Amino acid sequence: MARVRLDGVYKIYPDGTRAVDDLHLDIADGEFLVLVGPSGCGKTTALRMVAGLEDISRGTVAIGERTVNRVPARDRDVAMVFQSYALYPHLTVRDNIAFGLQLRRMPKAEIAERVAKAAATLGLTDHLDRKPRNLSGGQRQRVAMGRAIVRNPQAFLMDEPLSNLDAKLRVQMRAEISRIQRDLGVTTVYVTHDQVEAMTLGDRVAVMKKGVLQQVAPPQELYERPVNLFVAGFIGSPAMNLLQGRLEGDGDGALLHLGDQALGVPRALLAERPALRGYLGRGIAVGIRPEDMEDADLDGAGTDGAAVLSSTADLVEALGAELLVHFAADAPPVVTEDTRELARDAGADDAAAPGGGAMIAKFSPRSQVAEGRPVRIRVDTGRLYFFDPDSGAGIW
Ligand code: ATP
Repeated sequence: MARVRLDGVYKIYPDGTRAVDDLHLDIADGEFLVLVGPSGCGKTTALRMVAGLEDISRGTVAIGERTVNRVPARDRDVAMVFQSYALYPHLTVRDNIAFGLQLRRMPKAEIAERVAKAAATLGLTDHLDRKPRNLSGGQRQRVAMGRAIVRNPQAFLMDEPLSNLDAKLRVQMRAEISRIQRDLGVTTVYVTHDQVEAMTLGDRVAVMKKGVLQQVAPPQELYERPVNLFVAGFIGSPAMNLLQGRLEGDGDGALLHLGDQALGVPRALLAERPALRGYLGRGIAVGIRPEDMEDADLDGAGTDGAAVLSSTADLVEALGAELLVHFAADAPPVVTEDTRELARDAGADDAAAPGGGAMIAKFSPRSQVAEGRPVRIRVDTGRLYFFDPDSGAGIW
């Protein structure tokens, strides 16, 4: 097990593409770090440079105490797990797991012992004599994991290992990977474009955009204190609603104007984030998470008028545990390079585009909200997010 460090790492492909741009990451011994970001953000390239499958254009990669820039992949003592399991179809599960050890000419008894232990960890003991074609997708994925585990590597490097599994199996394997990593305590770098996977697996999550690291932090911190519009819009589902607002007030109290409507900004929030005062009398980008809104007419939730927006429910999606209520805000959406990149990503993934003038609120299923009818939305104004309208930087 080892610490993994990337120091000022660049990858510039021969055609000039800057796939990774000055990446610094210090991954602690035993840590589970997730690299996440939209397609093409450079996360796979970064992982492949750690693995030794891609040359490093500039900067250094160190595994443990050793700089590995010039160390070939096979000598880096890391184990990769890929999206395509890359199993040998003609070999049994046992031989697939043992393959790497046999190549290294490890004594047979030790191979058998390691394979048995890995199979037990992965629940594969009863399947060791099968061929991959006779396994389910989840079992194949376990065999691929087994191949990594038996090597006792310094680090696991995983590239979207769950993306070939169906949704239910993915959730199950996600929990399993988490458990195995914790049991073994092996430093892990895990690449995914799925923010839910990133948030549930990572001790820390590194969010990348166009080759550039945006923020690296524990999941809750990413959610609560995103450094910019990109991270704010990327983390959370449905995505944070982003609107152009205007802050008015004297610093003692403030009103957030959203078109013709206004929300009171709690004093405590102004006190917590002194930089907000610099925006009084100016435009500001505002973020409201769907889960920070509720039906104001439910249980007398909306008695405080300074925290209520009015609109019409355009669409109500009943998900059982919650309602997703789509409505239009009075204020225009935020449009920056970050939000365009988010929209591009959402479109590619066929997910709901991150908010803007079109808002999504998460209501209790007990709400009586109906499509085409007026709706009053109570906003948890203590949880508003603010960003500089030009740079998109979070205001904290
Ligand atoms: P995905 O999730 O789609 O795999 P990613 O975040 O892992 O995306 P990379 O595969 O690392 O992204 O690619 C980063 C950028 O580098 C992309 O713009 C991609 O088109 C480009 N790229 C990747 N491989 C090459 C190559 N061999 N030559 C030129 N450009 C490349």
